[in-house]
Amino acid sequence: MKVLVANDDGIFSPGILALAKAMREVADEVVIVAPDVEQSAVGHAITIRRPLRYKRTRLQGLEGLEAYRVDGTPADCVVLGVHNSGRPDVVVSGINIGSNLGYDVTHSGTVAAAIEGTTLGIPSIAFSLRTSDRELDFSYAAAYAKELVPAVARRGLPTKTLLNVNFPVGEAKGVRLARQSTHSYQDTIVTREDPDGKPYYWVAGIPTGPREPDSDYTTVLEGFVAVTPLYLDFTHTRFFADLAEFVPGLERA
Ligand code: MN
Repeated sequence: MKVLVANDDGIFSPGILALAKAMREVADEVVIVAPDVEQSAVGHAITIRRPLRYKRTRLQGLEGLEAYRVDGTPADCVVLGVHNSGRPDVVVSGINIGSNLGYDVTHSGTVAAAIEGTTLGIPSIAFSLRTSDRELDFSYAAAYAKELVPAVARRGLPTKTLLNVNFPVGEAKGVRLARQSTHSYQDTIVTREDPDGKPYYWVAGIPTGPREPDSDYTTVLEGFVAVTPLYLDFTHTRFFADLAEFVPGLERA
């Protein structure tokens, strides 16, 4: 099994080191390709107006492993990794510091790296760990990745499908399949004042209700690993019939 490891927190994040170490124990070949600086929330952006550099990097504790840092986005990393090191059996992304739940998947660079792998036809998984006041501990998540990744390599995933895996804080009570939630955020925009008295803004916010049953958000809050299959055909085919009633100029079949 050959695994390409990417992330959006940057190549020196403890999360990618934990994931790469875990992968080294179960894979024949591991290649790390990750952004040189944090690229959280850049989504599925790619860099098209300037050249990209691909630099071999030594990572502490992972000496001898092929690792490259890229001055681009998570999606850039996956594209270049596949181009330069050949197709892996699985693309893994993470372990992100912080959850990627609900609509987060549209902002997340972690998920975007897995989306990029999926669009290249490679089974891909995004891993994210919920943060808390407690010290970051990737051990449970990394151990679980060691089980899941070989299983996905063996079975494959359907076309246009990736897995979004979110870990709770600490030791999980178990693993559940979960739907993408629709929770919203409170305090999304925080306004402060700069030294000149002019306003500036933080776009952030903490997740808030509703707590839908079986959602990724609820599952992680309850202390379980949430495994969510995401499908990249965004077409809402069930809406076709209703939409056809009011789209101007629609050709009748
Ligand atoms: Mn991140």
